[in-house]
Amino acid sequence: MLDRIRELATAYQPEVVELRRFFHMYPEVSWEEVRTTEKISEILADMGCENIRTGFGGTRAGITAEITGSRPGKCVALRADMDALPINEENEIPYRSLSQGVMHACGHDCHMAMLLGAARILSVMKEQLSGKVRLLFQPCEEIGLRSGALQMIREGVLEGVESICGLHIWSPLPAGRIGYRSGPMMAACDAWETIIRGKGGHGSAPHETFDPTIAAAQVISSIQCIVSREIDPQATAVISTGSMQAGSLFNIIPETVRLEGTTRTFIPEVQGQVEKAMERIVKGISQTFRCEADLRYTRYVPSTINDKGMTLCIRELAEEILGPDRVEEIVPVMASEDFSYYQREIPGVFFFLGGGNSEKEAGFPHHSPRFNVDEEVFPTGVSMLAGFALKKLGSPS
Ligand SMILES: [Zn+2]
Ligand SMILES: [Zn+2]
Repeated sequence: MLDRIRELATAYQPEVVELRRFFHMYPEVSWEEVRTTEKISEILADMGCENIRTGFGGTRAGITAEITGSRPGKCVALRADMDALPINEENEIPYRSLSQGVMHACGHDCHMAMLLGAARILSVMKEQLSGKVRLLFQPCEEIGLRSGALQMIREGVLEGVESICGLHIWSPLPAGRIGYRSGPMMAACDAWETIIRGKGGHGSAPHETFDPTIAAAQVISSIQCIVSREIDPQATAVISTGSMQAGSLFNIIPETVRLEGTTRTFIPEVQGQVEKAMERIVKGISQTFRCEADLRYTRYVPSTINDKGMTLCIRELAEEILGPDRVEEIVPVMASEDFSYYQREIPGVFFFLGGGNSEKEAGFPHHSPRFNVDEEVFPTGVSMLAGFALKKLGSPS
């Protein structure tokens, strides 16, 4: 079965590359992936996919479709994200973005093309499927607060789905390798904000004021003690202050100080611990210095937590496709991915496909205006996605 998948993935490579370059030339930002949706919809209809549904979140972006096997069975989902970024491309390539100031700089163009390649394989091999494969082309992965995954789930895309798989092409990982990890793999991303209110006055008469800058300085230092003194050293958390605003002139003690920052955690319990401790410290320290403050803590995107059994399945599949030397367990990364929302509902696995190759000018980081990937890795990604569905739904042959 895997030989056949690999053979087809190689045969479809020119088509997958062409699609990826099309998406790259016509990038669309989050929740505006309309032209992209139309293109994918046409391709899926030509392939004979069923139950094609387009438009989510009150927009015309996003698409789901199904490939039905010859025998009844479970339903598994494969997901690709669709959005580009507000970045002006600096690559000198024939398929450079034609949209000024918008670029596929995270590789989501590759994800869509590879999922279409996998869909073609599954359509050709559907005689061997017991059950259904639901394809999810998801808008808006990049903006956590407007997550396309969350919106699609609200609109029922996971109904009847037993498990889900997705990948990210990953430039820090050398081309052609697969990186997997069981349990937490990518961090939860949260934002926090506080306004510390004191009593302003003349810089020469601090005794007549309640100086919020002193409270703010203590808050900034003390929240770092959450990581060093309260969190289990074996667990991980990051607390950063990203913005600090106060005052207008050198001789005025201001009324307020506004602080903003982000936190990253992997385990939901640690996330809760960080939130509670931040609130206690911000309020407590402000009171100590005769000021008042409230903490606004917003949970943006949960952590990506891979199902153990499904990770094993991906690892085995990758080793069968690439050989064990090119499959590695990776350390968790602090970036976030809204694939995590699917994993809160059903068992899911997310993995990295190495796409970095400095010899081909594909060594720049994600979200860089020079980001690019080694397209030769596509057949591996296509085989992994198709292989996962066939492993889950395939009849033993
Ligand atoms: Zn990104
Ligand atoms: Zn991405």
